[in-house]
Amino acid sequence: MLNEAIQALEADVLDRLLRYVRIDTQSRADSPTYPSTPGQLDLLRLLRDELLALGYADAALDRYGYVTATLPSTLPADSPAPPVVAFFAHVDTSADAPGRDVQPIVWRNYAGGALRLPGDPTQVLSPEESPALATHVGHDIVTSDGRTLLGADDKAGVAAVLGAAAYLIRHPETPHGTLKFVLNPDEEVGHGVDHLDVPALGAAYAYTLDAGEAGEVEDETFSADSVTLRFLGRSAHPGYARGKLVNAIKVAADFVAALPRDTLSPETTAGREGFVHPTTISGAAEEAVVRLIVRDFDTAELARKETLLRDLATTTAERHPGARYDLTVVEQYRNMHDVLVHHPRATALADEAVRRVGLEPLHRPIRGGTDGARLCAMGLPTPNIFAGWQMIHSRREWVSVQDMGKAAQVIIELAQLWAHER
Ligand SMILES: [Zn+2]
Repeated sequence: MLNEAIQALEADVLDRLLRYVRIDTQSRADSPTYPSTPGQLDLLRLLRDELLALGYADAALDRYGYVTATLPSTLPADSPAPPVVAFFAHVDTSADAPGRDVQPIVWRNYAGGALRLPGDPTQVLSPEESPALATHVGHDIVTSDGRTLLGADDKAGVAAVLGAAAYLIRHPETPHGTLKFVLNPDEEVGHGVDHLDVPALGAAYAYTLDAGEAGEVEDETFSADSVTLRFLGRSAHPGYARGKLVNAIKVAADFVAALPRDTLSPETTAGREGFVHPTTISGAAEEAVVRLIVRDFDTAELARKETLLRDLATTTAERHPGARYDLTVVEQYRNMHDVLVHHPRATALADEAVRRVGLEPLHRPIRGGTDGARLCAMGLPTPNIFAGWQMIHSRREWVSVQDMGKAAQVIIELAQLWAHER
């Protein structure tokens, strides 16, 4: 792309980010509705309207909150059609830091050093804490004012998708097959694509724009299960409990204390190592519940970790005569590599698109899940591409305007690369 076009794209993507982050779209894990919060629908309606205004005649918001839009092929009608490719980003933001009344700040031409966020003097963004800052001198950096998260996860991805959609419809000379754009709610609470009608979307391949560092192309996630472990005791009046009371709280506490400490925990593992992790504990003397998550890149390892939990629960219950337990496992998501290995072009073309915008592709296993992992399991091969965000889920979250511009360029390059595939 020409320099002028790149600058226009960066300006457009920044403009969109600043508009989108002002809408509170935090999702909520405990909500009975879908989307989980009404603010997400405010942004989704805005995005549908922006797509309609750009000329996307079929842009629509369905009853679950999915916004979809189609860009018809620009290839000659008599040539064989390439695969339909979709681009996804999620509108919701994390509940790990405040997300209402976001006041974005653009630090033009970042000169290096620490950025003191003016809304809260304790929030100082520094290259010591976020080493990527050091490689972004000269970039335009967007942060919040320090009182809230920014929401670049994943509004940087939304801005990149909309920016590319705007560019492509205004440049019909760009050769590409049929493209789909999808904006979805509730990724952060693990329900991003629960109600998506994948066959109706009609895409053969997809990409989520929901990774951090510029250049990242992710094709591997954890495989994930959740485990609910219910300890049953026997309650009795504490004044007359000798020989009768079996306190489930103590059984559950013993179990948690017996979990591996130096290995197999989030705080002691990195890279390709998996873990078991207690997320909540609740209960009373009669019954106490420990919920855990189990993670590994090797799907078969999940069962071994679950056996370890079962064995620990058995020996713990044995130490408390009269205590019992039951353990249930629920599948959460699977390593998308298990699917993507059968569709090598999806990742290879993403790597090529990243090179075309002047970056080196970075492959890192994701120590988490993405909507792409779910989409892979639903039959739609979906690697994850960078949107540029850094320090997400914190008040010191930031994103470079130039990196967001690169993300939009990657979409535009991918559209053209897929035009040659059959
Ligand atoms: Zn995200």
